[in-house]
Amino acid sequence: MPGEQSRKNWGFVRQQGRDPVEMPLVMEAHRLWRGLPRELGADIEWIQGGNLALAADDRRMARFEAWLPVAREFGLPTRLLRARDLGAVVPGLAGDWVGGMHTPGDGHADPEKTTDAFARAAVAYGASLHLECAVQGVSTRAGAVSGVVTEHGEIRTPTVVCAAGAWSARLARTLGLDLPQRWVRGTVARTTPAPAVSACAVWAPGVARASSWSSAGPCPASSHERTGASSASRDAIRSRCRS
Ligand SMILES: Cc1cc2nc3c(=O)[nH]c(=O)nc-3n(C[C@H](O)[C@H](O)[C@H](O)COP(=O)(O)OP(=O)(O)OC[C@H]3O[C@@H](n4cnc5c(N)ncnc54)[C@H](O)[C@@H]3O)c2cc1C
Repeated sequence: MPGEQSRKNWGFVRQQGRDPVEMPLVMEAHRLWRGLPRELGADIEWIQGGNLALAADDRRMARFEAWLPVAREFGLPTRLLRARDLGAVVPGLAGDWVGGMHTPGDGHADPEKTTDAFARAAVAYGASLHLECAVQGVSTRAGAVSGVVTEHGEIRTPTVVCAAGAWSARLARTLGLDLPQRWVRGTVARTTPAPAVSACAVWAPGVARASSWSSAGPCPASSHERTGASSASRDAIRSRCRS
């Protein structure tokens, strides 16, 4: 819980550009996110500032255009922007962009604050947290799950949920299960406070950025920037997942 993907990501809560099969799930997730600050009773820096995908060439722009029927089918307001219109969404945007795709209803949140808020809520509802306690395997008795073996001893239970993220396949192997998983290296960095740029999260080939600020203030004077890159472009990830 304290140190992996859920606390160290870009924080995008993005419906834009999704596979049509994912759309009902991401739209329902988005609805839940909008109510999370209230439900969790925490400032998770939820900002519904939109999502802008940038295109550096006509090919990527054509892909955005090809996705518009999906947005229409699911009633998600999304529009294509020409290069000269990008500055209205992200003032001072640099770079040589052909255009972009803008979904104003998308949002983002602070991953650390969100993970912490979920943990506090779970504890409030009776969960107990065992930090710095690796699960080494799942024990079975008479062909059924009987517990988890941790580095601090066994916890007896008839039910185990494996939510080990990138390590799930390794854990599943202790039960002889083969869980196909592909690792994609991604990075994220957080700046010191800087002048607020835009409420809109932006992703481009190889890099993404988002601002975060306390949702207590409607007009922030400064914000933190979260920026990151992934080792593989979206297209490469997609083709590798298919292969
Ligand atoms: C740089 C980056 C940017 C991203 N940006 C976005 C984004 O903008 N929007 C988005 O929706 N998604 C994003 N993602 C993906 C998103 O963060 C993940 O899909 C999500 O956090 C996965 O959650 P999880 O609970 O499955 O895994 P995790 O958050 O990794 O949690 C798994 C937990 O299991 C624990 N664990 C593993 N093995 C064991 C063991 N043997 N015993 C005990 N504990 C164990 C780990 O320590 C960890 O705490 C990004 C990911 C990265 C890396």
